[in-house]
Amino acid sequence: MNIGQEILLQLKEEITEVEYNRYIKQLDYDSKKSTSDLAVYYAPNTLVCNWIKNKYTSKLEHLFEVKTSNNVTVKITLKDSFDKRKTKKKEEKPTSKSLLNPSHTFDNFMVGGSNQFAYSAVKSVSEKAGEVYNPLFIYGGVGLGKTHLMQAAGNVFQDQGKSVIYTTVEQFLNDFIRHVRNQTMDRFQEKYRKCDVLLIDDIQFLSNKDTIQEEFFHTFEALKGAGKQIILTADKHPKKIGGLEKRLQSRFEWGLVADIQPPELTTKIAIIEKKSEINKVKLSKDIINYIATVIESNVREIEGILSKLHAYSQLMHVDIDLDFTKNVLKDQMQEKTANLTLDNITKFVAKDLNIKPSEITSKGRAKNLVYARRISIYLCRELTQNTMPQLAQYFGMKDHTAISHTIKKINSLIENDEDFKVKIDELTNKLTTNV
Ligand code: ADP
Ligand code: MG
Repeated sequence: MNIGQEILLQLKEEITEVEYNRYIKQLDYDSKKSTSDLAVYYAPNTLVCNWIKNKYTSKLEHLFEVKTSNNVTVKITLKDSFDKRKTKKKEEKPTSKSLLNPSHTFDNFMVGGSNQFAYSAVKSVSEKAGEVYNPLFIYGGVGLGKTHLMQAAGNVFQDQGKSVIYTTVEQFLNDFIRHVRNQTMDRFQEKYRKCDVLLIDDIQFLSNKDTIQEEFFHTFEALKGAGKQIILTADKHPKKIGGLEKRLQSRFEWGLVADIQPPELTTKIAIIEKKSEINKVKLSKDIINYIATVIESNVREIEGILSKLHAYSQLMHVDIDLDFTKNVLKDQMQEKTANLTLDNITKFVAKDLNIKPSEITSKGRAKNLVYARRISIYLCRELTQNTMPQLAQYFGMKDHTAISHTIKKINSLIENDEDFKVKIDELTNKLTTNV
């Protein structure tokens, strides 16, 4: 028996037999790749792999340390063949997604204070195409339901037999280029200027693309002139989209501009209940509340969690309980932060607060620098796996006690200073949704 197997048997003593048989038994130790300070295990698939990684890595490392007196890093990974198969599949995936998603309906959309305005606007447009707000412009952050609402209207129009075009700026642009190349611009114009309803998603990507702005302007004029409905979405208000022709910008505001805000807790809970019902995932009240409080605002992320919970529980034949949910969420969090390094966190904070990254890691005592440094240290501690000594070195502090002192200070600020807490939340959110 090799050391890798021995350690697994020791772990068996500490956990339940069910846990051992379900997960740990599936691990395969690679004695060739392992060294005195690295232990490599293979898991049969991603789900088991992530599960074991989250739940047992530190326990395994501890057992290795006790047994060998070495500081051993335990690596749980997939076998190469599996990895290759997976990446190949990814490449083959088609990228086109111009069709309306039939499950994006008004019925499936949970309404709360944060999205009430946008919902009502889209709903009334769907009842009176071209007559009330034209264009209707919906804007808001990532994953808050802009595409869903826009397509809900699209589905209604389609059921009425109207010709609906749903497109992204990118597809519109590609289509344009193709027709220019084939000298079939008349057909392009026929297509976009003769439809009953035009839905263009993420219009902010028109920014600084002059030729397509010009073409879009004429499309817009033709449709609007003929009383055809136009709905647009963007991540910001038309006034805030840079690199946009003035005449387009003003037209975007001709009809109605409606915003979607991040959902408040009760709406989040309603959304989770709805999604779990649709996906046939049974969740208890405490689990729903837990997910709603942990996930800040992005509804897409909530969906990701639900499907992951579902997949894990099916695969491992376990019920979804709170403990299980916490593990899956932790796993999700780690995936989101996997690409974050000390450098890119510091750069991000510096950019946000309008100072130089080198000033954050300097010894400067100016108030704004101290503020930025505190925020950076906190985020680096929360969002990366760096140890206190590593952080001390990076931020030019004496030793790890200086860091732990700073962290304590920040924790008390978070408790007592609402503005500070909001800033930390905002940056955490941005950093973890940008990757
Ligand atoms: P956006 O276009 O604003 O980035 P999406 O419309 O793609 O966001 O929404 C992301 C996911 O969240 C979609 O699957 C959508 O169905 C879901 N979603 C967002 N808001 C709601 C809501 N209020 N009720 C139900 N589902 C929602
Ligand atoms: Mg969208």
